[in-house]
Amino acid sequence: MRKAGLLGKKPLTATRKMLETAQKDTGTIKKAVLSYGSYNYTEYESRFYFRAMISANKEILEVDLFTRKDLAYGKKEPRFRIFLDREKNDFISWNTVEEKWSRAKIDMLETDDDRYSYSYRGRNHATKETLNTVNRYLHTGCVQDVETAVIDFQARIRGEELSRKHRLVTDSIDGYMNTVPDRLPADWMKFINDRALEHSIFYIRDMRTGYCTHCRLRVPVPTNVRHKMTGKCSQCGSSVTYRSWKKQKGVYYSTAVSLLQKCTDRDNYVYRQFRVDMHVKRDNKYVPEINTWEMYRRIFQIGHNSRIKAMGFEWGEFNYTGIDRWCHEGRCRRSWLNGDGGYGYARSVPYTGNMKKLLKGTCLQYVPAAEILKSMGSKRINVMVVFDDMQMGFPYEAFWKMGLRRFIHEWIGRDGVHGLTLIEWSKKGIRPWEYFGVAKEDMRQAVRLDATDQQMRIIQKASELFIRLTDEQVLWLDRYMGVHVLMNYFQIQTPHRIIRYLQENAGVEFNGGARNCTLVHFWTDYLDMVNQLGWDLHDRSVFFPQDIQRAHDETAAAFAILKDKADAEKMKAKDLIMNRNAKEIKKAFCYRNDEYMITVPGCFLDFKHEGNAQHNCVATYYDRAVKGECIILFIRRRKAPKESFCTVELQNDNGKFAIMQNMTAYNKDAPEDAKAFMQKAVKEAQKIADRMAAEEGKKLRMRVAG
Ligand SMILES: [Zn+2]
Repeated sequence: MRKAGLLGKKPLTATRKMLETAQKDTGTIKKAVLSYGSYNYTEYESRFYFRAMISANKEILEVDLFTRKDLAYGKKEPRFRIFLDREKNDFISWNTVEEKWSRAKIDMLETDDDRYSYSYRGRNHATKETLNTVNRYLHTGCVQDVETAVIDFQARIRGEELSRKHRLVTDSIDGYMNTVPDRLPADWMKFINDRALEHSIFYIRDMRTGYCTHCRLRVPVPTNVRHKMTGKCSQCGSSVTYRSWKKQKGVYYSTAVSLLQKCTDRDNYVYRQFRVDMHVKRDNKYVPEINTWEMYRRIFQIGHNSRIKAMGFEWGEFNYTGIDRWCHEGRCRRSWLNGDGGYGYARSVPYTGNMKKLLKGTCLQYVPAAEILKSMGSKRINVMVVFDDMQMGFPYEAFWKMGLRRFIHEWIGRDGVHGLTLIEWSKKGIRPWEYFGVAKEDMRQAVRLDATDQQMRIIQKASELFIRLTDEQVLWLDRYMGVHVLMNYFQIQTPHRIIRYLQENAGVEFNGGARNCTLVHFWTDYLDMVNQLGWDLHDRSVFFPQDIQRAHDETAAAFAILKDKADAEKMKAKDLIMNRNAKEIKKAFCYRNDEYMITVPGCFLDFKHEGNAQHNCVATYYDRAVKGECIILFIRRRKAPKESFCTVELQNDNGKFAIMQNMTAYNKDAPEDAKAFMQKAVKEAQKIADRMAAEEGKKLRMRVAG
């Protein structure tokens, strides 16, 4: 770029407004903590201030860069004069302090302030006029920040530009990001301190006082204070954990908070998610250092009965360009800030101060969203899912107003996933209890108990069985049984009797609930068998056995016999064929030695019992054995012929036998001598079968001849 004439004109100087703004921007000391250490830095509102003008012949744009530091010292001259030529695609910068030219891009100019001592969140300062001049000259097509517009222009010239595709992407992202309001609520930091953080009182036992990280005051502590005891600060009332300064050097707490706002286009809404880190250290007298970073945004719309349409954005390095900016969700290289579990969208503690106003005029205006969300305390929740459910008509309003607080809390805590209770919430305009399919009376009970999901399901289940439980019974079942299959018997024997039996005979309370109580398992099993056996469950002596264990075992034996009978009945036709097959097989497989012999299964129960005894799946071979597709044999020891030993599968390929499997219990390989025995047995069987086939053949030939 021709340097001649560029410096002929005087640069623009700082306006009074710029000087004032910079002087007011005194910054706050913050601490950045990395995995390997930490450093202090100062966060200012703005790092650069810009003014711009176009040369007389309209060829060159001059952007004058002032630093906050210079302005704060009252210096009116720019630190750099950046000249841009859009026709010749060129640029050059004049360093007014060192009086030399530089061909560096704006992000590489030496501005005499350590860029890392600034928060990168700092907004650059420029008047509307300057913004317009720059953007119009550079044809950005929108109102971009001056630094961004300049860096994009310069990067393009350097061939380091974001590709055309990227440009389209970044332009569209900026289009949305520019509609996000600048301002955070006035009580934003108070909200973070009150709602999102977990606080401690660091105490010195002998002094009977401690330091509260919430109100930051020295406060009295109870005389019985113990390390890690929880309580409330006597000054501010905040929930705290007491920590002995002797035992704990500090606390680190990391969470996420969020803010919902209306976008400046008056059409969209934005969910803004911030990471919050709090460090409390003894070295620092436990004064909390709180850092926040906005890492995620989601632009969304609120409409009737439709899932939220939304677009997510993340702060990070854009496509390996070295530029940190807003990117589409999942498309940026993340820094340590959004790494470490906090990837992109996450559960957060929502700010509720503006919610009522925010939802006014929308379909959600009557939903007590602020109240509900606030009641979740410092618990991080899936804010977008809650809003999605609200929009889809989940009856938050009805349930909340009736008083089902805990139920709502659990629903939100599960990210809106159904729990135990069945809810029919796609229906419109029905009464609150109709969502659960219960009577008004049942709903009253649920409200009275401020029922949890499990308690609600117990009430609902009772209602399905047309019985009503007392509050005490609901609470007892909730505590010891959960939603248990035994409830199904409440129509046969009263809940009162069943509960008393569980207490007195099964020792549920003593065993810490049904889950850990084997007698409950046995009883449940027993009742199930008794039911299938068709015995009279209304008979109390049947329903409530004296000795659960014994009753269970005896019934199990009776049940097994019955089951066998039923199986045999079912397999009657097939067993006829199996029986015939077995007779044929026995003719060939009659080999035995001193140790072993062969048993041929002749019916389904033979298969089943062998399968049970050997813990294998031989019973599933039954059908194939019936069809003659395979031959199943059992090897038995001659001294214990009734006891299972090895299970063998043979293939019968046109009268040629081959051993496919020879297994002992639990599908383990048969012992060597049993294998040798089987090989011998097959050889012998083959001879017999071949001879039989030959005789058969002879017979056949005679018949044909005759
Ligand atoms: Zn306090």
